[in-house]
Amino acid sequence: MSNAIKSIVDEDVREKVVLIRADLNIPLSDGKIQDLTRVKRLLPTIKFLLNSGSKLVICSHLGRPNGEYFEAYSLKPLVKVLSDILKTKVNFSNSCIGHGALEAKKNLQSGEILLLENLRFHKGETENNLEFARNLSVSCDIFVNDAFSCSHRSHASLHAITNFLPSFSGILLDQEIKALTSVLKLPVKPVAALVGGAKISTKINIIEFLITKMDFIIIGGAMANTFLLAMGYDVGKSMVERDAINLAKKILDKSKKFNCQLILPSDVVVSKYFEENSDHKTVNVSNISSDMMALDIGPKTIENITAIFKNIKTLLWNGPLGAFEINPFGKGTFALAKVAAELTIKDQLITVAGGGDTASALNKSGVAEDFTYISSAGGAFLEWLEGIELPAISVLGKN
Ligand code: ADP
Ligand code: MG
Repeated sequence: MSNAIKSIVDEDVREKVVLIRADLNIPLSDGKIQDLTRVKRLLPTIKFLLNSGSKLVICSHLGRPNGEYFEAYSLKPLVKVLSDILKTKVNFSNSCIGHGALEAKKNLQSGEILLLENLRFHKGETENNLEFARNLSVSCDIFVNDAFSCSHRSHASLHAITNFLPSFSGILLDQEIKALTSVLKLPVKPVAALVGGAKISTKINIIEFLITKMDFIIIGGAMANTFLLAMGYDVGKSMVERDAINLAKKILDKSKKFNCQLILPSDVVVSKYFEENSDHKTVNVSNISSDMMALDIGPKTIENITAIFKNIKTLLWNGPLGAFEINPFGKGTFALAKVAAELTIKDQLITVAGGGDTASALNKSGVAEDFTYISSAGGAFLEWLEGIELPAISVLGKN
C-alpha cells in the first residue's frame, strides 16, 4: 500500500469547500434508520472539518438502485439524523450533480453541511465515469475519502474524482489503515490470525496470504470441519465443503513450509439439529457420530486458544468460531472475545477484528469496545487481508 497518502488533518481547510465521500449505506426500513454506527464513525472527520472553518459537502451511496431514482434509497432521512447529532444545519440537494447541487454548493457558508442525494441514482457512479466525477467535483476545492469500506470499488466518487481535486484521507480511513497495517505489515510478534466462519472457499486467499505473515493461524467455525475431513476425521452431518478438501490439504502443507502453526479444534460441541437450544454435547473431534453436526468449538479448544492468546502480542480476528446466532453455539466465540478483550485492556495484546458477521458476533459478546480496533468494513477488510491493493486507496497516494 502506498505510504504517500496525505491525511486531511494536516491541511489548512479554512473557507474551502470539502467534498467527503462517506459510507452512509445504512440499513433503512420505511425511511427509519436501523443502526447509527456508520454515522458515528464519521463524526471525527466532520467535526474536525467544521471546527476548521470549511464548508462540507457529504456524498455517499445507499443500496443498489442501479442508476435510477428510488425513494426507498434516498439519503434524505439522514438530514435530520445528522443535524440532530451535530446540532448544525444540514442542507440537502435532491441530486448529487447538476444545477441544483451546484447552487447548493455555492450557497454554503463556513461551518455548514450539504448532504448530496444518493450517488448511485446515476449510472456514472458505478461506471467510474469521468464526466460524472467532474460534475461532482464542480465548485469543490478538496476531496476527502473517509469510506474505507467502499474503497475496494473503482467507483467515480472514490476513484475518478481524484483526477479533479487534490485528494486526502479522512480520519476514519486513517484509523482503519493504521489498524490493518499494525497487524499485517509490521506486527508486534508473535502474531496470530483467528479465522472462522462458514466456508474455506470464501477465505482461501486470505488464509494463503496470512500463512506468509503469521506465526499462528487458528481455524474455527464450519471451515474447521473441512480441514478435519482432509485430515481423515469423520465430521458427521457438519457443514463441510467436500470439493475444498484438496484446498485444505494444500493449506496444511503450505503452513509447514512457512513455519506457520495451524491450530484446529480438538473438541467440538455437536447437535443433531441446527436449532436454538437443541440438545447438544461436547465430543473430541475423533468422536463426531454420523448423525451429529459440529456447531461450536469445545472447552478444551477454548483453553488451548486462550493459552495461545496469552503468548502472542498481536491478534487478527476474522470469522466466528461457531454458529453464534443460535444459542448456545456462540459460547466459544464469546468466551474467546472476552479473553482477547481482557488481554487488550491489560496492554498485553493488540486486537484487530473485522468482517460483517465477526463484527456482529463481537458486538453480541458485549466486549467489542475493549478491542484495539474493529473494522466496520466487510468486503474491503477481507480484500485487504488477501493482500489486494484497494483501488480507491492507491489513487489517494498519487496526489
Ligand atoms: P464474516 O462475515 O465475519 O467474514 P463469515 O461470513 O465467513 O464471517 O461466517 C459467518 C457465518 O459462519 C455465521 O453465520 C455462522 O453461523 C457460520 N458458522 C460458524 N461456525 C459454524 C458451524 N460450525 N456450523 C455452521 N455454521 C457456522
Ligand atoms: Mg459474512
